[in-house]
Amino acid sequence: MSATVQSIAVAAPEVEQDLTDGFHLIIDALKLNGLNTIYGVPGIPITDFGRMAQAEGIRVLSFRHEQAAGYAASIAGYLTKKPGVCLTVSAPGFLNGLTALAHATTNCFPMILISGSSEREIVDLQQGDYEEMDQLAIAKPLCKAAFRVLHAADIGIAVARAIRAAVSGRPGGVYLDLPAKLFGQVMDAGLGQKSLVKVIDAAPAQIPGPDSIKRALDVLKGAKRPLIILGKGAAYAQADDAIKALVETSGIPFLPMSMAKGLLPDTHPQCAGAARSTVLKDADVVMLIGARLNWLLSHGKGKSWGDTPKKFIQIDIEPKEMDSNVEIVAPVVGDIGSCVAALLDGIGKGWTKPSTDWTGAITKKRDDNISKMAPRLMNNNSPMDYHGALGVLRTIIAERPDAMLVNEGANTLDLARGIIDMYKPRKRIDVGTWGIMGIGMGYCIAAAIETGKPVLAVEGDSAFGFSGMEVETICRYNLPVCIVVFNNDGIYRGTDVNPTGGEDVAPTVFVKGARYDKMMEAFGGVGVNVTSPDELKRAVNNAMDSGKPTLINAVIDPAAGSESGRIGNLNPQSVLKKKK
Ligand code: ADP
Ligand code: MG
Repeated sequence: MSATVQSIAVAAPEVEQDLTDGFHLIIDALKLNGLNTIYGVPGIPITDFGRMAQAEGIRVLSFRHEQAAGYAASIAGYLTKKPGVCLTVSAPGFLNGLTALAHATTNCFPMILISGSSEREIVDLQQGDYEEMDQLAIAKPLCKAAFRVLHAADIGIAVARAIRAAVSGRPGGVYLDLPAKLFGQVMDAGLGQKSLVKVIDAAPAQIPGPDSIKRALDVLKGAKRPLIILGKGAAYAQADDAIKALVETSGIPFLPMSMAKGLLPDTHPQCAGAARSTVLKDADVVMLIGARLNWLLSHGKGKSWGDTPKKFIQIDIEPKEMDSNVEIVAPVVGDIGSCVAALLDGIGKGWTKPSTDWTGAITKKRDDNISKMAPRLMNNNSPMDYHGALGVLRTIIAERPDAMLVNEGANTLDLARGIIDMYKPRKRIDVGTWGIMGIGMGYCIAAAIETGKPVLAVEGDSAFGFSGMEVETICRYNLPVCIVVFNNDGIYRGTDVNPTGGEDVAPTVFVKGARYDKMMEAFGGVGVNVTSPDELKRAVNNAMDSGKPTLINAVIDPAAGSESGRIGNLNPQSVLKKKK
């Protein structure tokens, strides 16, 4: 191939104009399909590709670590319904991006990981190339689809296929393996242009069968205590008006999963968020809309679901999701927009809303819980506890409902999810299905880039540390991101001691009195140290008004947290723990 390239270099200029190469074909294929942003980290063999993409008008955002870039791409996919693109170098860069690709697949977010790779001939003979690795084979089990492109003429169809695989049906992650040699491969420009494919109807509507709609409506009509659970699939679907109409017309109480908060406001009279355990226990018919009965819903059985026998209706685009944990008596397979519209249509005729016995009991429970919590949210303790600090942030989001909220941590996550009400769809983005740590900074960057709205990140100190270096990226692109680090000196809490009395601190403990705000200052952003809710409120409002990259080190009582937040029960217990 290098011989060909050389012969081009000596060829007449008019010949050169008729040629294109792998670099340009990939860029053209992405642009043709409206993929105008790339999140990545430059290096061999994709450095020039990034430069050229920028020169051709693609927004190329360079990160400090591929994992954060990958998380950014994954959430860009969730927010836009177009695959988020992450670009990495070979072997180690690819592996760093792969965690995010697996995360995207697990969460049903469309994403394409594009990695440069070593030459096939050398990799396949295991002859020890620079960063040699059979990346395609490694990616396959961790994503929805994986393709390798060996010929420039195939780039158009490969990109089209990757896009369709990512967004159609249940969305997920796709891997595109591009060996170094592909980038410089040349071909006739006219043929190259013709080889590009603009994907037609990338995520076709999937219309539910009329029988499945009738079955679901029959089950709903027979319910005494119905409940709707909205998941992030419902938020992803962007069928906001139809979902709101279905909930309000039916009069059925709804429970939003974490990232579905705000699809309808948490303050909506039918929202059962603050009565979660009651509705899970007492409901007799549960309709899941874009939510899976996985660990986050205790697999649809066991103590948290109480003794009331349940009938489940499930709306999902993935037929294999049905009956995954418990029997689904009314599976409705299709895209949420189409399914909800069909249900709404059917419900119009002779529908009776649930009894006030049921809805009134929920309202009472919810109001009780909210008023019990209210005084705790108003405390002005210093050092702060979680409730005092989150009470302030709750007010700030109520006053700024368009802001994006990023949230990760353990206690910081669990308590913020419950305390901070959301008012608009797709404003809350968090740790998702895996409860993963490290998504925060990538999510902040993508949220700012994709929505153009100010971003508030509520971060545990441990969670922040996984991708903290990306504050440089935030400053470099001057993004309107305000990060609040809930600093309690450690993981879960900062009070553990080394039982041996040795010099090392306990495994869950960090540097006491650390000043994360200085990290932001190092790159020209604003750093603030706060010790009380009043100070926190001022600092966040200033940041949100100014739009300047800001990091607020919020000093939290090291004793305030609990082990693993709300999921301490998932820790295995040693019976020998107390023995010496
Ligand atoms: P949550 O964690 O909020 O409960 P999950 O990630 O468990 O949400 O579930 C999301 C579900 O939504 C997945 O089963 C996925 O197949 C489904 N889904 C995603 N997009 C759509 C869509 N457009 N139409 C129908 N179902 C969808
Ligand atoms: Mg779920």
